[in-house]
Amino acid sequence: MENRYNEKLKKLPPYLFIEIDKKKKEAVDRGADIISLGVGDPDLPTPEHIVKAMQEAVAKPANHKYPFGAGLLTFRKAVTEWYKKRFNVDLNADEVCALIGSKEGIGHIHLGFINPGDVVLIPEPGYPVYNTGTIFTNGVPYFMPLLEKNNFLPDLDAIPEDIAKKAKIIFVNYPNNPTAAIAPKEFYIKLIEFAKKNNIIVASDAAYSEIYYDDNKKPSSFLEFSGAKEVGVEFHSLSKTYNMTGWRIGWVCGNKEVVAGIAKVKDNYDSGVFQAVQEAAITALTSSQKCVEDARKIYLGRRDVLVEGLTKLGWDANLPKASFYVWAKIPKGYTSSQVVSKLLDEAAIVCTPGNGMGKSGEGYVRFALTVSEPRIKEAVERISKIKW
Ligand SMILES: *Cc1c(COP(=O)(O)O)cnc(C)c1O
Repeated sequence: MENRYNEKLKKLPPYLFIEIDKKKKEAVDRGADIISLGVGDPDLPTPEHIVKAMQEAVAKPANHKYPFGAGLLTFRKAVTEWYKKRFNVDLNADEVCALIGSKEGIGHIHLGFINPGDVVLIPEPGYPVYNTGTIFTNGVPYFMPLLEKNNFLPDLDAIPEDIAKKAKIIFVNYPNNPTAAIAPKEFYIKLIEFAKKNNIIVASDAAYSEIYYDDNKKPSSFLEFSGAKEVGVEFHSLSKTYNMTGWRIGWVCGNKEVVAGIAKVKDNYDSGVFQAVQEAAITALTSSQKCVEDARKIYLGRRDVLVEGLTKLGWDANLPKASFYVWAKIPKGYTSSQVVSKLLDEAAIVCTPGNGMGKSGEGYVRFALTVSEPRIKEAVERISKIKW
């Protein structure tokens, strides 16, 4: 059937994490005791009070209907209150649209704003969906390398003027997947200027804003900075913050016209978010955030075990400032794919090859901190036995 795929579907690379999962299953079938540091899917359960809210919400017949539009007003208000509290950003409910996970909006924004031939500025290595939406709308991706020497920020001055003129959307993602970098204030100020000058929509993906390691250096929202709302939107998700990846809920907020455009695409293309899930999300956003604090502590413990362990073994692993990823330079003389294969074959460890998320990721692997601390210790122990 694959030969009947259209040109766009054929153009897509295999979805990275599905490939990794396939390799992992093969190893499991061989009887290997796999430690999976591959896919960024929290192992921790959704906090109990959120599950309970869902159980109550799912029993209400009013929630069994098609959920239309931008989402429940109560959900959108909960988002605006959360933004105010967390970022001191003022939003109105009509500047928020609920999404079936932020991936949905990130993949669909193109449908509302990209004409064939329009350029989309995409960070690489990066989340694959920025490019998927571009290909599906016959847009033209222009990849912005995220290099260590630039603190994993895209160099906006390096984007040729004719490309900038043709660009309609720029994606940025901080805290960053996969490099675990955060963006300083100066970057956002420059980004807003760049977007204004070239009439580009900023699409800021902030899925990891709550997974940080230093209370004094909490990641910023793009919307905190002057002029942001005039040029762009921010995508947010409950997936990583509250261990709700399977529930499928996130939102987009910021520029009213862009939010309305995405909502219009949704109304004509899919549906809203199951209202029971929206009600559970209200509970998540408005009740005590201690569960998030607890999760941060758990990730911090894991991060330190892995980074200290790898460093002792001579690896050069960046200490993540945020997100639950460790972006590690690989031993010299190997490619990223070779290291991933070696770790799987000789240590039964699954991780992500850096170049799988973009060619500038070559020379790195990404470890997700989504297994328990004892298992991470075990992983370090196994890595110590590998001969390079
Ligand atoms: C996990 C992730 C998302 C979104 O996940 P959803 O579950 O669809 O909300 C978005 N961006 C990045 C970079 C991610 O890693």
